[in-house]
Amino acid sequence: MIGNYDFDVVVIGGGPGGYVAAIKAAQCGKRTAVIEKGSFGGTCLNVGCIPTKALVKTVSVFDTIKRSQEFGIEGIDTSAVRVSMEKLQARKQKIVKQLVGGVGALLKGNKVAVLKGAASFVDSHTVKTGDKTITSEYFIIATGSEAFMPGFIKYEGDTKIITSTEALDLAVVPESMNIIGGGVIGIEFAYIFAHLGCKVTVLELMDHILPMVDTDVSDLARKTLEKAGVVFETGARVKAVRDLSVIYEKDGREQSLAATLTLMAVGRVPYTKGLNVEGIGIELNKTAIKTGPDMRTNISNIFAIGDVNGVSMLAHTASHEGLVAVANILGESQTMSYDAVPACIYMEPEIASIGLTEQQAREKYGDVKVGRFPMSANGKSLIEGEKSGMMKVILDANLGEILGVHLFAVHATDMIAEIAVAMKLEATAEEVIHAIHPHPTVSEAVGEAFMAAYDKAIHAL
Ligand code: NAD
Repeated sequence: MIGNYDFDVVVIGGGPGGYVAAIKAAQCGKRTAVIEKGSFGGTCLNVGCIPTKALVKTVSVFDTIKRSQEFGIEGIDTSAVRVSMEKLQARKQKIVKQLVGGVGALLKGNKVAVLKGAASFVDSHTVKTGDKTITSEYFIIATGSEAFMPGFIKYEGDTKIITSTEALDLAVVPESMNIIGGGVIGIEFAYIFAHLGCKVTVLELMDHILPMVDTDVSDLARKTLEKAGVVFETGARVKAVRDLSVIYEKDGREQSLAATLTLMAVGRVPYTKGLNVEGIGIELNKTAIKTGPDMRTNISNIFAIGDVNGVSMLAHTASHEGLVAVANILGESQTMSYDAVPACIYMEPEIASIGLTEQQAREKYGDVKVGRFPMSANGKSLIEGEKSGMMKVILDANLGEILGVHLFAVHATDMIAEIAVAMKLEATAEEVIHAIHPHPTVSEAVGEAFMAAYDKAIHAL
């Protein structure tokens, strides 16, 4: 039957997983199509990473202008400075539109066929989109995720609950906002709305916000946000939302807190609605499509990448999984490793982490070496107007293997790439120390944090 299909590879979903996989497959000579029911770029480009960071940027500029006197600038009446939500939304839309158009142009330029509509599997080599039937030798499912509305929370009355999608589109800054979940989404929106003048409370189940980040860093981030007015209720188990109030249990007591809006940010769930994956026998792991490290599902010609496989819900992981899936379609034997996936959280300063937290490293390896460097001792950070922050590295005690790195600093999200390369090349701490970091940069502090693990930082005692 090979050769009689309409396409060699059909990718379902045009987000950062799907469009990257489609372009790569086409570049490698495969007759490729992508099926998309909405706009190219998926959650990331339309209602996730990109629009959120556009809001973060405006907030950061706003904050810098309010602090202009610190930089020696006079003549600005900072009490009169305000953010126009209308103009902020317009700027955000313009950026999104340009990037969505860019993805369309890249697909076209790489001769990927574009099919608009929602795909549904008929069998392992056939999907239907509207009244069209499309056959392919291989399929890559990249349908992403949607906001999780937990069933364990009761919803009563007119709850005014929004998700990150609606939060990005708000035309007016609400007077107050309860954010359920102190994970990545909760913290990024807490930063945005607190700086826009909203009274924000974050309700987080665990004892620390950002449970996936090293606690030295998450505790510092919490303090920074508290200075901006964010109130944290940690160890708070939200049980219900009743009209405008969030009902939660803390220290064995039921408490209630009212706000103009409630933002639900307790995770996302894989999106497979209408795909008929179970109908053709694709195995699921709860709601996620089960894949092996080669990105293959239990049906050998069908792959699943990105949020829909539920492994690591990050745009850059999705793109990389797409490359791995295509390599396997081409007959190369590639597997995905998740040991060195950088995670970035956008506020000011930024947070970036990779690998294990200190606690995870101690549980796994026992003895480890830890180095910390305060950003107050870094010249470029002070020039940027940022005295707070730290860099922390966790190393294997004997060989200096990099186990984890956690940054809370200006430009942290750009700097973590250095560590991703170092970990990929299995560099030791000594090799990172001997890589020359330019001066004056914030990145110098990376080398210092590694030296600090051996009690030999130059610029800290
Ligand atoms: P998350 O998993 O990061 O955090 C959810 C938080 O909700 C956790 O801290 C959890 O302890 C808490 N929680 C769960 N149940 C609760 C309850 N009943 N009461 C109070 N707290 C409760 O999820 P998210 O922040 O919604 O993000 C969803 C996904 O999107 C994640 O995979 C994230 O990595 C991704 N994302 C990434 C970025 C980025 O890379 N910058 C930005 C936004 C989202």
